[in-house]
Amino acid sequence: MTNPLNRRDFLRTAAIGGSAVGLPAQTPTPASEGWFDRPMRWAQLTLVEDDPGKYDLAFWLDYFKRTHSDAACLSAGGCVAYYPTKIPLHYRSQWLGDKDPFGDLLAGCRKLNMVVIARTDPHAAHQDVYDAHPDWIAVDASGAKRRHPVMPELWTTCALGPYNFQFMTEITKEIVSMYKVDGIFSNRWSGSGMCYCEHCRSNFKAASGMDLPRGSNPADPARRAHAEWREQRLFELWRLWDSEIRKINPAARYIPNSGGGATSQLDMKTVGELAPTLFADRQARRGLMAPWANGKNGKEYRSTMGRKAIGGIFSVGVEEPYRWKDSVQNAAEIRMWVLDGTANGLRPWFTKFGATLHDRRWLKVVEDTYVWHYRNERYLRNEEPLARVAMVYSQQTARNYGAERPAARLEDHTLGYYQALIEARIPFEMAHEGLLDAAHTDQFKTLILPNIAALSNKQCDQIREFVQRGGGVVATYETSLYNEKGARRDNFGLSDLFGASFAGQLDARMQNSYLTLESDPATGKRHPILAGLDDTGRIINGVSRVHTRKNGSYPNPPLTLIPSYPDLPMEAVFPRVPKTDIPEVYVREFGKGRVVYFPWDIDRTFWEVMSTDHWKLMKNAVDWVTNEPRPVTVTGPGILDVTMWRQKESVTVHLVNLTNPMMMKGPIREFIPTPPQTVTIRLPGGRKAKKAQLLVSDRMARVHEANGSVRLTIPSILDHEVVAIDL
Ligand SMILES: [Zn+2]
Repeated sequence: MTNPLNRRDFLRTAAIGGSAVGLPAQTPTPASEGWFDRPMRWAQLTLVEDDPGKYDLAFWLDYFKRTHSDAACLSAGGCVAYYPTKIPLHYRSQWLGDKDPFGDLLAGCRKLNMVVIARTDPHAAHQDVYDAHPDWIAVDASGAKRRHPVMPELWTTCALGPYNFQFMTEITKEIVSMYKVDGIFSNRWSGSGMCYCEHCRSNFKAASGMDLPRGSNPADPARRAHAEWREQRLFELWRLWDSEIRKINPAARYIPNSGGGATSQLDMKTVGELAPTLFADRQARRGLMAPWANGKNGKEYRSTMGRKAIGGIFSVGVEEPYRWKDSVQNAAEIRMWVLDGTANGLRPWFTKFGATLHDRRWLKVVEDTYVWHYRNERYLRNEEPLARVAMVYSQQTARNYGAERPAARLEDHTLGYYQALIEARIPFEMAHEGLLDAAHTDQFKTLILPNIAALSNKQCDQIREFVQRGGGVVATYETSLYNEKGARRDNFGLSDLFGASFAGQLDARMQNSYLTLESDPATGKRHPILAGLDDTGRIINGVSRVHTRKNGSYPNPPLTLIPSYPDLPMEAVFPRVPKTDIPEVYVREFGKGRVVYFPWDIDRTFWEVMSTDHWKLMKNAVDWVTNEPRPVTVTGPGILDVTMWRQKESVTVHLVNLTNPMMMKGPIREFIPTPPQTVTIRLPGGRKAKKAQLLVSDRMARVHEANGSVRLTIPSILDHEVVAIDL
């Protein structure tokens, strides 16, 4: 899409020679064998039961063609069959007759040379299934069979018993045999909450010796055992379906609708090993969700998928709890979501529920986005991100420390640091707790641990070795104070790295507490992590703090505690203890690297309060421990999500314009064009620029090249810009 606001004259200029200083050239890991890396744009048509005989086949095939979609996910079976199935009890659409809409769509897609995977949905069954196999139905804690929560004439199935392991296996085999699809994609395949059916009862007992857990006591050992058993059972189901598919078509695979970040139910490391490709099903922004949330999905999926292709499933509708699944939302919302996903390495996948178009406004939005994507595909086939910073996410912390409140106890820390990095325009990745070995972390200079409370001894060793090798670490609050099972340690697992020990106490909620910004008494200078705060001697504290003791000598901590004092009545609002020597940040060198530890919830408080002072501390801490120039520096007003990538013969920098008043809510109404931005890009491996383009403005860029970097000015960014440098 061209941006009328960017119709300035960009001139191509010859590259000016520079010295060979730049980022190290890295060897990308190979993608999966097979078709998985080929599709760049996905189309999903999720048929509804009355579509057969009514929908416009030619329209949809033409739309797939116009959007240059090179892969499709088409509804086949499970809850409703859209093909002439022969499997008893496999419910056919009442409108199916002698038609085969799945087969017709598939044949049309094949003519367009598209990859096709078939969608199944096993979560709901009809009455005849209940009558024939009552044991296939999920059971609630009271022993009652569970009706479907939305359509009470349907029944909710048990995901862990014979309905999936036998019946859905037969359906999967039939679809692959009849149609030679490239894969099966299952929606809602992993169950709908706790099930107390006879199979779950006996299988769990056989596996664990325990009865199924009841009640919500997070300390109940049966609960953790059940979570582990359920996860194993689902991975068993995944392997079963995958192997049955491959027996029939060795090139096809099972692709579950699964995955996510810290609160994901399945272990992402195992998911990353099993999946040949994977798609984040986060269909739109909702409520107060930040506009960068789709990019976060991309970073989380990539952390364990590595170089394998990942996609972002977006719907075109309003995505709120009231589930207007047949709706169309405004163009800016759709574009923001897709563009931030693209900037973060997610290949776009649109999903449309129902083939009847009640509202056609989304069609052009998706077409424009996809056509631009197609034209610039060469610069979107990323080999690797060039971010030098990674933020660790931890499923074991969410499960075993976050327990019933993973959002408040863990995810809000992550979101706060995520927002701080976006505002700082620091390109970064996410890193999984299970992949902290050198092979996975040495592409980074810095790891951020936002209250990664639960860490094993081995993980602590890996982080310590990362710093000894020259890496940087920023950690907050209770990081490493618990083992991987969530049991509190006597001291931080990373105490030696932090230079601090646990003093046995937590303040869960401080009111009206402050921090003194200290100078070195000998020089009068402040530490670089206090940069930008020169005009004040104190700032607000966070809300929660861990009491710490310094290990050995730690002269002149940059931040010290001003304890809480009364905030009411107003006459009482004066500090009782104006100054202490209690450090509220530990800043040090360790091995060849650097460490900053904040023993308080700076990131979580930032997510809640958004104090600029806290943001400066978080940004400065990352820059100080990273201790090298950023791969890309962007200066100018506004909020931008900045990512940097290497392709085979080029590098790209994406700038997604998140500048939006958001009216203190969340919805995006329109894009507000940014003022000019100056972009300085370090070229990898001392390479030189052959050509520089702005892919959204569709212009050559005038660049100044020196010392292994190129610098250019972008006059304005409406929604998205991509600087592409051919090497
Ligand atoms: Zn069950």
